[in-house]
Amino acid sequence: MFNLKKNKEEKTFPDAISPEFDKIRLMYIFIIIGSIVLYIMSFVHLQRGEKDIFLFEALISTGGLLSLLYMRITKKVNVAENLILIGLYILFIVIIIDGGLEKTGIYWIFVFPFVSFFLKGNRVGLLWNIMVLGTILMLLYLSQKNIISIAYSPIEIRQFIGAYLIIMILAYIYENTLIKSYDKLSNLAMTDTLTGLYNRYYLFKKLKEEIEKAKKYGRPLCVIIFDIDNFKQINDKYGHDVGDAVLSMVARVVKKNIRDTDIVGRLGGEEFVIICPETDIQNGYIIADKIRKSISQINFGDFQVTVSMGLACFSGETAEQLLKKADIALYKAKNGGKDKVEIYTEKNYPQRGQIKKTTHQEQQAV
Ligand code: GH3
Ligand code: MG
Ligand code: MG
Repeated sequence: MFNLKKNKEEKTFPDAISPEFDKIRLMYIFIIIGSIVLYIMSFVHLQRGEKDIFLFEALISTGGLLSLLYMRITKKVNVAENLILIGLYILFIVIIIDGGLEKTGIYWIFVFPFVSFFLKGNRVGLLWNIMVLGTILMLLYLSQKNIISIAYSPIEIRQFIGAYLIIMILAYIYENTLIKSYDKLSNLAMTDTLTGLYNRYYLFKKLKEEIEKAKKYGRPLCVIIFDIDNFKQINDKYGHDVGDAVLSMVARVVKKNIRDTDIVGRLGGEEFVIICPETDIQNGYIIADKIRKSISQINFGDFQVTVSMGLACFSGETAEQLLKKADIALYKAKNGGKDKVEIYTEKNYPQRGQIKKTTHQEQQAV
């Protein structure tokens, strides 16, 4: 069950459904299409002899492509987002003052609510919209007083503002729905549906993060793997539904007995993992044994369950290697009569080359 190959395959799946992944991909599409459209428009202006507008639009579209390049090189998405919005803001000011082709340039401003909410989320997106709308209102007002070159009629202004507000509200609602769906999706992607604990994918992700922290700050980190003893018998005797209820109950008891900073998840089947940051081997053992005792005290009517546990402390290895060490200790606990905690120490166990043949899961898999 604890299989390195399988874990590698899972790695790309959640990244592909994360909001950031979609956002960056859509930013590429948006900037590339937007820049092409703007280049075409700038050439139309050039042909009409409007050199200033040509230069300006060419500059903005080149700026868009450069911010994309900047994002690609530096990975600073936030800066690229702001550059895009500032570029659009300046573009809209010029469009309003100039009027664009036959005074129709103003329609391009309707893309802004969707772009700004998409890039900046609801709150900051709303601020950008207020700023853009405020600036536009001011310019339209100035146009009526003949202070800027182009004049818009009161009906044009009213229609524009009405349409902009409706699009802005729709874009806001759309973005809200999207954020909620992403939240639901990412929750699903990290949760084990039976127990409500984190799933295998999230456990690996968190363990990797905790290992990085432990390395960076030189802090201890422990990992516990535990497996319900003789679980097959429970399924066989009481049925699969009772087996499922046992898994849920065990999950609940573990959750109650860990600290807020500990992370617990189901690795698969009747196997669980607890990641204990800032925990050395002595404290890891105390936590593991406390949980083992609490599980053995759960009253399931006419039966009780016990668990065997393997504990390993981080000493520079990868997440997979650390879990494997805890798994070796678990194997020892199973072989030593079950219902106990075993600690992995380099002294007591074979070196890496021999590890493979001795894990609990691999022996069960045979
Ligand atoms: P050991 O003490 O050595 O761990 O023995 P065991 O019987 O617990 O281990 P074994 O691997 O033989 O059996 C595990 C069982 O767990 C087999 C499988 O049907 C059951 N199982 C795995 N996932 C689930 C699940 O989601 N729900 C239920 N009810 N049973 C499950
Ligand atoms: Mg078992
Ligand atoms: Mg098992």
